[in-house]
Amino acid sequence: MTDHPLGKWLNMRMDRAPELQPVSVQELQDWQFDRLRQTMFQAVRNCPFYHERLAGVQTGAVHTPADLEHIPFTTADDLRSGPENFLCASQDEVARAVTLASSGSSGPPKRLFFTAGDLERTIEFFQYGMSPMIKKDENILAILPDSRPGGVGSLFSESISLIGGETILPVNPSYISTLLNLLLDTHASCILGPAIQIHALARMLESKGITINHVRSVLLCWDVLPQASMQTISRVFDCEIFSHWGMTETCLGGGVDCCGGSGMHLREPDFFLEIINPATGKQVPDGHKGEIVISTISRRAMPLIRYRTGDVGCIMPGQCSCGLPLRRLGAVEGRLDDGIILPGGSRMDLNEFNNIILAQKDILDFTVEYQPDELALSFKLDVLPGSRPTPEVKQMLMEYHKIKQACDNHNLNISTRLAKQDGTIHSGFGKRSITVKPPKASV
Ligand SMILES: [Zn+2]
Repeated sequence: MTDHPLGKWLNMRMDRAPELQPVSVQELQDWQFDRLRQTMFQAVRNCPFYHERLAGVQTGAVHTPADLEHIPFTTADDLRSGPENFLCASQDEVARAVTLASSGSSGPPKRLFFTAGDLERTIEFFQYGMSPMIKKDENILAILPDSRPGGVGSLFSESISLIGGETILPVNPSYISTLLNLLLDTHASCILGPAIQIHALARMLESKGITINHVRSVLLCWDVLPQASMQTISRVFDCEIFSHWGMTETCLGGGVDCCGGSGMHLREPDFFLEIINPATGKQVPDGHKGEIVISTISRRAMPLIRYRTGDVGCIMPGQCSCGLPLRRLGAVEGRLDDGIILPGGSRMDLNEFNNIILAQKDILDFTVEYQPDELALSFKLDVLPGSRPTPEVKQMLMEYHKIKQACDNHNLNISTRLAKQDGTIHSGFGKRSITVKPPKASV
């Protein structure tokens, strides 16, 4: 039994009466594979890329996840090398094109295209997914980019207005003092945004000794969720913490918790998600971590078949206690390409640095830069005004086993220095990452 709004949404998307109990997990999967076969049929017929990539592949024989393993992957490089080759609709039907610069490489950007219908389905997912978090006449502070028509901020505002709420979109996500004033002035009952901004907001509230009781829920999205930040946010706001996962390739919305910490119910009427071992390309069982791969099943402008997202996550085993048949994604812990190999061979990813550094009470944000030829790992710290925690942070880093080993045995050099100290942070709307400096000779 479920009365969750996403159950109503799922029924409507499956052309069933909204008030019916949702279908079973197996019925949902069968329906998805029916849509997936249709998508592949259309893609082979209309997209130059898939016409070639899926030539000779029996797409009509794909009925189960195991069958899907015979279908070749699509990669980010495929998207970069010719985004127009993925178009399944005419240019006239494209309502929005999004260009994504490649982080850390000088390669061509990815471009993604959406029809008005593709965007409508995202608004609908946001509307039903957000319903447990916000009520009519309430305000939501949404730290989201792009308030232009078709942009994520604009789509999100539309979905909230369908619930009867009001969205406040801050212009600059790096001005934490301004975010704080907006939060206090608008009495927002929900805050949505990347974990780093909400973390900084919580740290600033705490440092000023301000207690607020109007925030009923926080939704963390668009980037990895550091455990250290989750603890701070949960303590300061003392409310339910929800998570969302999504990327431009999923048409922004991807999965959302039905209640705090439940695991993110996937947007199954719009894509089928697999988790694979990135080394072998084979699917892994539920509960095992791997690379997230998506196949769109409703996308009109630009279908993606077995697209390797580069994000790391896992499907939570079993069905949610809310009764929805939508599978759940566990916390997305990072990207395959956001790690560095320290001298001595240990791998460190951004979230490990997050969990060490963000646990320090004066830190709002930080950047990390690695220079392998100089064996130098440097950190710039954005801190609460008036604080100077550089020695403490350096010590915390040096005590972490992997870093200690690299320093003691392989001469790794750690430096920490203060950066922003005026209540602003380095991070904007983009995803945070580790910067790796190329060897000096090749600069
Ligand atoms: Zn649930």
